[in-house]
Amino acid sequence: MLDRSHFESLDQEDPLAEMRERFRLPPDVVYLDGNSLGPLPAHVPGVVESVVEQQWGDDLIRSWNTHDWWTLAARVGDRIAPLIGAPPGSVIAGDTTTVCLFKVASGARALRPDRHVILTDSGNFPTDLYALGSVAEAGVAELRVVAPEEVVDAIGADVAVVCLTHVDYRTGRRHDMAALTDLAHRAGALMVWDLAHSAGAMDLDVSGADMAVGCGYKYLNGGPGAPAFAYVNPVHQGSFVNPIAGWWGHADPFAMETSFEPAEGIRRLAIGTQPIISLVALDAALDVFDGVDPSALRAKSELLVDGFIRLADERLDGFEVVTPRRPSARGSHVSLAHPQAVGIMAALIARGVIGDVRPPNLLRFGLSPAFQRHVDVWEAVAILEQVMEEEAWRFVAAPAGPVT
Ligand SMILES: *Cc1c(COP(=O)(O)O)cnc(C)c1O
Repeated sequence: MLDRSHFESLDQEDPLAEMRERFRLPPDVVYLDGNSLGPLPAHVPGVVESVVEQQWGDDLIRSWNTHDWWTLAARVGDRIAPLIGAPPGSVIAGDTTTVCLFKVASGARALRPDRHVILTDSGNFPTDLYALGSVAEAGVAELRVVAPEEVVDAIGADVAVVCLTHVDYRTGRRHDMAALTDLAHRAGALMVWDLAHSAGAMDLDVSGADMAVGCGYKYLNGGPGAPAFAYVNPVHQGSFVNPIAGWWGHADPFAMETSFEPAEGIRRLAIGTQPIISLVALDAALDVFDGVDPSALRAKSELLVDGFIRLADERLDGFEVVTPRRPSARGSHVSLAHPQAVGIMAALIARGVIGDVRPPNLLRFGLSPAFQRHVDVWEAVAILEQVMEEEAWRFVAAPAGPVT
């Protein structure tokens, strides 16, 4: 049986332990939801305040030049690039994950005009399925949705683009990025990855893929509604067509020409004026990854997930661990199935353990290697055990709104 001291000693040996000090976390909370809304890096409020006061307040419109707001989206993209294994100049921040996916998947589809299928899997996040539906409609293609384990066999000669989310938001199941990218390419298709549940939690290498997108407010801790990011492999940048032509993607925006001429490079992914204050917050939040090797994040994440699953096996009855047990087949969160998931999570949150639920019956526990302590895992399972022993889930009021 694992005991608390096992997790305490993992914390003592944790090479990333001091990263936690870069965050402001409430002392009475075990936060296991960094995969849904990353916590606040401690220095971000000061940075945002000074940008608002000085750059917006004092310097006004001059800040577009003097503080280089104009290039901020691409500069933030260049800071995300090393976290996903992308070269400089291939990533741009901005818009939402949904919009970024629409842009890159449309661009990918247009690069394979002789094929008519966009392939994805049914485990994909709903907004991805909706956005890909829009891509198919606009690009006169068919959206083909197969079960995650059927993707390999479904990559046929009619497939223009394979578009998958790397880590499943519900179960934590992880697709094999290198193998599927290779399969797609052998079949003559392009490969697009959604890294929403991966970037910031593990080492990634998208450099062989064609395009990718990801989320700024999950493991990257950019704050609620933070700008997302899009990657386009440099080999495609010259021919990539942004489905939404806008002045920020124009070769010379201030020429104010009546016809559209795309910018060179990744800047052609931009559409309109970006939320500078949100970009500033994301830019500052990325400081917490300075000097951090993504493979060290992955090593810690594996230990956290492994510890959680082992404790769940040892101490919990009536739950099913739906997250794959093979480390290479999973991401950085653990999902447990239980018929009373909603009430159990409400009882946990009332006791200071914050995870979330996904319908109908999954309790989800994000284990973000950037700030998590190993002892958080121990605390969470111990309190969950208590909730079950006391049947505390019977006594919590049903949550007023959706538990997101
Ligand atoms: C969180 C998440 C999103 C979020 O999309 P937004 O447009 O930023 O709201 C999209 N896709 C996946 C796979 C996600 O996990």
